[in-house]
Amino acid sequence: MKHWQRLIVFVILVVLTVATPALAQEPALRLRLNRDFGYGGFSGDIQGTFSFRVDGPDDLKEVRFYIDGQMVGLDQEAPWRYQFRTDDFALGVHKLYAVGITASGDELRSNELQREFVPAGRAWGIAAKIVIPLILISLLVPVSMYLLDRRRGKRGKGYGLWGGAICPKCGFPFARHTWAPNMGARKFDRCPHCGKWSLVGRASIAELEQAEKAFFAPPEDESETPLSPDEQLRRQLEESRFE
Ligand SMILES: [Zn+2]
Repeated sequence: MKHWQRLIVFVILVVLTVATPALAQEPALRLRLNRDFGYGGFSGDIQGTFSFRVDGPDDLKEVRFYIDGQMVGLDQEAPWRYQFRTDDFALGVHKLYAVGITASGDELRSNELQREFVPAGRAWGIAAKIVIPLILISLLVPVSMYLLDRRRGKRGKGYGLWGGAICPKCGFPFARHTWAPNMGARKFDRCPHCGKWSLVGRASIAELEQAEKAFFAPPEDESETPLSPDEQLRRQLEESRFE
């Protein structure tokens, strides 16, 4: 396609886009259906109390409301509304529209809405189809999280979903927190023993066991740390008591 041809196609497309809404004329009388109380499905099935709502020109003096060609209501002042209960009509598909009469006597017909009036039980059944799976999912997620947690717990010895880490500051093991921000495979987490923050990865079970030993071990053997003279004296006295 040559350049100028493309330009023409482009101009035609722009004109169509701008002109289309103007061509698709809005009806002078616009009808909406409002759900006042009850059920309204996505596929146009309704049950309960609904109302016609009509917008029209300023010189409207009367609006008549129709279901399947039969006038069911009349309004002689704005706001143009008429409330009805689907249970007062036969079940099944109905066509709803309104006719407005202007001050000069013109008749304006609204757009037509098609709705299926369904029994209360079915409405509940349809709602249940949506609600029950939601309830199941909301139960399933925590349960599977718990089970997953337990399985991982067995492998990671009770360090939870995110596994255990060894604090690089104090060397003690702790369970990585769900809330700790992820940094790649590691988490920026706070050690509950020393309170310091560090980037920690998931430690292996062997590493955790080693760290646990250190954590649960009694304070280090005295012989390794030099004692102060006072301490030495106290210890000697203590030991002499047992002799
Ligand atoms: Zn620490």
